[in-house]
Amino acid sequence: MHFSSERPGSNLVVIGDDELDGLIITGLAGEALLDAVRAQRGDPRHGYYPLFAAASGPPADGIHGPELELLLDGIVNDEEQAAAAATEHWRQVGGQHALPASTPEARLLSYLALRPSRSLAPLRDWRSATVYRYPLLAALGADENGESLSVLAARGLLVRRQLVERLRLCPGCGGAHLLFVDTCPNCGRIDIAADESIHCFRCGHVESQGRFMSDGSLQCPNCRTRLRHIGTDYDRPLEHYLCRRCGDRFTEPDVVARCCICSHECHPEMLTTREAGTYQLTEYGRMSALDGSASDAFQRFDADRYLNPERFAHLLDWQIGITRAHSDCRFALILIQLSLPLAAEAAKGRVEARSMLRDLAERLPEFLGEADVCTRTRETDFWILLPQGDSRGANALLDRLQRELRTGETRRHSDMAVSARVLRSAELRDVDNEARAVMDHLLRTAEGTANA
Ligand SMILES: [Zn+2]
Ligand SMILES: [Zn+2]
Ligand SMILES: [Zn+2]
Repeated sequence: MHFSSERPGSNLVVIGDDELDGLIITGLAGEALLDAVRAQRGDPRHGYYPLFAAASGPPADGIHGPELELLLDGIVNDEEQAAAAATEHWRQVGGQHALPASTPEARLLSYLALRPSRSLAPLRDWRSATVYRYPLLAALGADENGESLSVLAARGLLVRRQLVERLRLCPGCGGAHLLFVDTCPNCGRIDIAADESIHCFRCGHVESQGRFMSDGSLQCPNCRTRLRHIGTDYDRPLEHYLCRRCGDRFTEPDVVARCCICSHECHPEMLTTREAGTYQLTEYGRMSALDGSASDAFQRFDADRYLNPERFAHLLDWQIGITRAHSDCRFALILIQLSLPLAAEAAKGRVEARSMLRDLAERLPEFLGEADVCTRTRETDFWILLPQGDSRGANALLDRLQRELRTGETRRHSDMAVSARVLRSAELRDVDNEARAVMDHLLRTAEGTANA
């Protein structure tokens, strides 16, 4: 193995003559190599660049091997091999080295643009709270559980190729470490056992089969009748389980999902679902990376995919100015407020309310058009600005949202009250023409309706 440009004391070999084409990590193995690779992928400027490791030491064991494979562009024996592979990557983007890198999502698109045939794959790791994690997302600075991927797919930048697993997650903490425990449907405790019982026709007594055994034959412990023929003297009830705490007999135990991370307990139907899969860049995603618009696409959203309220107000002010100057321009502003059910006072209700809010917050961007923006001024207050939107567009959006909240996964939130107010730019003459005042006005109207 020969790395001519290796400098003493450094584990990095640079590939490229005039400009940086990629890096080789040398002299490291196992966990130390993995740490170095993660750090290099985490570099905000060059994290998406071709990255290789020099064969060194024994191959990584356990989970380290597969994770290295997901993060590296290969193991190389010399600089020529790495340079050839790097050139091939850069050829995919026409040699353009300055790709968007301002956000984790932009870096992801740039990473995939260099590797069009490669898909972003999750890794199954029992140490991870969600069991499946995307090491590359974590390295690039995004949430490693892959929550952002469905949003990127909804925006047409990525496409999901292969479904790897359907996860059931705790509605309290989002974790996937769940125990499914059989419990007594009567008292809810777990001290239950399989227990065949006998039902005496003579006196109606029901008890465990063992209590009927007497000298090798069956005798009712209550009325002392000898039971000879099943169907005539006795039968076996279908309730094959007995609760040792409350004595209840039942056919099927209740199943409770218990979270090992936050101890939240719920019915399995209440668990949220997420699909782990592999993702690839679409042609639109590739173009967004190449023309630099990927950065803009993601500047619009912070980590939560929402504008911060200041930027939202700024855009609203801008829209107000445009409609004032051009009579054919308009917009619609929507305020969606959730009032939490009274049960929210109980701990269980609070957890459910939080999961419901998170559901809505996560899914709201899916309902928005390309030019629409949203923000959140309180935990329960969501705002949407629809440039060139009218009441029809606003109502259509609200209908879709309402339908979604009523059906599907979010059905369990039916006791939550959702209210929405729409303000059209045509109504503006009634209020001060300034974003903050307009928003306050809408909040006051909403309050007025709620108290009426
Ligand atoms: Zn019981
Ligand atoms: Zn009897
Ligand atoms: Zn949990």
